[in-house]
Amino acid sequence: MNTFSFNNNALYAESVAVTDLMVEYGSPLYIYSRGQIVSNWQQFDQAFGDHPHLICYAVKANSNLGVLNILAKLGSGFDIVSIGELERVIAAGGLPGRCVFSGVSKTKTEIQRALELGIYCFNVESAAELDRVESVAKLLSTKAPISIRVNPDVDANTHPYIATGLKENKFGVGIEKALALYKKAELSKHLDVFGLDYHIGSQITEVSPFIEALEKALELISQLKAEGIKMSHIDIGGGLGIAYNDEKTINIEKYIQSVLDKVGDLEVILEPGRAIVGNAGIFVTQVEYLKQGGVKSFAIIDGAMNDLQRPSLYGSYHQAIAVENNSKGIKDTWDLVGPICETGDFLAKDRELTLAQGDYIALMSAGAYGFVLSSNYNSRPRVAEVMVSGSNHALVRKRETVGSLFENESIFNNEIN
Ligand SMILES: *Cc1c(COP(=O)(O)O)cnc(C)c1O
Repeated sequence: MNTFSFNNNALYAESVAVTDLMVEYGSPLYIYSRGQIVSNWQQFDQAFGDHPHLICYAVKANSNLGVLNILAKLGSGFDIVSIGELERVIAAGGLPGRCVFSGVSKTKTEIQRALELGIYCFNVESAAELDRVESVAKLLSTKAPISIRVNPDVDANTHPYIATGLKENKFGVGIEKALALYKKAELSKHLDVFGLDYHIGSQITEVSPFIEALEKALELISQLKAEGIKMSHIDIGGGLGIAYNDEKTINIEKYIQSVLDKVGDLEVILEPGRAIVGNAGIFVTQVEYLKQGGVKSFAIIDGAMNDLQRPSLYGSYHQAIAVENNSKGIKDTWDLVGPICETGDFLAKDRELTLAQGDYIALMSAGAYGFVLSSNYNSRPRVAEVMVSGSNHALVRKRETVGSLFENESIFNNEIN
């Protein structure tokens, strides 16, 4: 499907002209397509056919309630990494019974709340965490459903900040240590062993590291079986890359099929984040000034690194597209830079575009790790988010106000004591 496409030289989000949205909701703005989110999710769901499976959307990719609600209505599960994310899922109509809880440092309070709400499974990431989950479950006189996150030591060939499956990364336990942990868990009155889990990184564009990890995990599962430890699911993580530029990506149907060919009757849990929301969102910003005549030409835009951090954090690429063709524009090779007082404040570099002051520029595929990574740096209110479905559209998060920036702050009065 073509969610964001040109019609009469103007960019549309589904059936709505992006310029109309900008005029109505202001700039800068995140715009999401409901149709694209639904079709991305369904592609995963359908690839599994009748095989028992649970798609646990990784909430951290985009945790807006409007996004979560669309997925909850489809029957999605969720991969959460904090209690805040779990409460969001519930507020959006999602079921705790379909949530897996990942992350290297679950606090006692988080474990307790997750147990009370009845999540599907804890993805336990260390021996110390296993002890803590067990002790909280004991305190509540219950049994905690667990899976152990193993670190399969495979190179996912991605940006070092988002590679998670190498033994030097902080995630999971080494495969060689997992056996002892499983034995311990199996003997506990307060732990229920449900599965095995791994997640090797993000924005992965080749299938071989996934298959390598799967094979290592299945080997461990059969070792465990020989020891009398059975499990009902394997959680193969997320990490499927999307095309930001001209990357080739993984064929989802083929990947899932090759997983199903190997797992027997184990339920499969998949935790895609980026692949569900990445191409379903754009970030649109307006040209404030054009600055030419030096070594570089700058289009100074009203969006900045605090709104969309991926380019400055990971050196990520987003396609930059003029929302409308402007015959009065200047054709040049532009760096798109924001108002923040750092040289790292850029959203794109060396882009050939025809631009004039006031033009809107869309940064494409900004639906994942976009708004969620935004901050108030330079005392900039965070931007609004809009959902589009066909010709309908509505705010799913209103723009912050300047007043809201310091509502939690106060002046320290040194004379009180
Ligand atoms: C971030 C994360 C995901 C999602 O990764 P994507 O690359 O967005 O698919 C899945 N599982 C875990 C444990 C994660 O930390």
